[in-house]
Amino acid sequence: MNILFSSTKEKPDFWFPLLKKALPEDRFFAWPDTNGGDIDVVLVATHPPGTFNGLGRLKLIQSLWMGVENIIGDPELPRGVPVARLIDPGMVAAMGETVIAHVLDWHRHHYCYREFQAQKIWKRRRQYLASDRSIGILGLGELGATVAAKLVAMGFNVAGFSRTPKNLPGVNSSTDIDEVLSASDAVVCLLPLTPHTRGILNKDAFARIRKDGCVINLARGGHLVVPDLVAALDSGHLAHAFLDVFEPEPLPADSPLWTHPGVTLTPHIAALTEPRTSVGRIAENLARVRRGEKVPNTVDFAAGY
Ligand code: NAP
Repeated sequence: MNILFSSTKEKPDFWFPLLKKALPEDRFFAWPDTNGGDIDVVLVATHPPGTFNGLGRLKLIQSLWMGVENIIGDPELPRGVPVARLIDPGMVAAMGETVIAHVLDWHRHHYCYREFQAQKIWKRRRQYLASDRSIGILGLGELGATVAAKLVAMGFNVAGFSRTPKNLPGVNSSTDIDEVLSASDAVVCLLPLTPHTRGILNKDAFARIRKDGCVINLARGGHLVVPDLVAALDSGHLAHAFLDVFEPEPLPADSPLWTHPGVTLTPHIAALTEPRTSVGRIAENLARVRRGEKVPNTVDFAAGY
């Protein structure tokens, strides 16, 4: 098969050696070289506009990321071609580590002790046990469900929100977001960005989270209403926010988030696609295309993710 790689973020030089090793019979092209339109599969992650032009025999659009809102939002997306999300075990593991790092930073007051250190203040804060704390996970998909299981194993009370009902061991799951937020000290957002979830982290949501709680947004910047977050931090209702994703990215220099004492931010690194662990999944999907079989984890366009 002829495979086109098209991304403004991922580098073909990095991926091609692993892809070529896993798929020795296939031929690879890096956009804008589209092999005259003779392409079977396109691998995309924040692809440049015009990527799909003239690709008349496309059988699969394979995302190199777990979030697919950029692909779905492309007005030139060819109709009827399945879009596969990448389920990368390395990325799932990385997200678990990031969530645990942030939850523990808040739970053990490390964000606060860093500030005390800067001011040379020797002061102890009250200790909580994991069993004193409730963590709400918004989104119980590939990432949210894994994260929830890890937090349950650490002894936290865990509540989870999803569109369809879930039955996950130890997780108090609900399709009612207010129920989950009201039961949470800390809230982790791992939802896809869709018209239903845009702006979901807003003042009403923050008011429901228990006082001195924290918000951890690792999903997409569009989930968060920034002025509402700043107000909830400034009022003292929320103790801290950990933000990895922004709209736009890179975060503009004049954003108040850069210098807000209640914010810890990172440059969209919560979980990076790991070619070493994802190439095998891509190869499996391409083998299915070759055999004329359905590829798993494709986008449900009606649901928007
Ligand atoms: P996923 O497997 O598709 O899971 C999405 C979860 O959200 C599902 O539980 C789904 O409910 C729920 N959901 C979707 N729309 C909803 C709605 N309107 N109301 C309530 N629940 C809703 O996605 P994933 O692989 O876990 O990834 C989640 C997101 O993480 C990605 O879309 C991406 O934006 C983000 N991400 C960020 C990074 C980073 O480095 N910062 C890395 C990877 C991914 P159902 O279970 O009922 O379908």
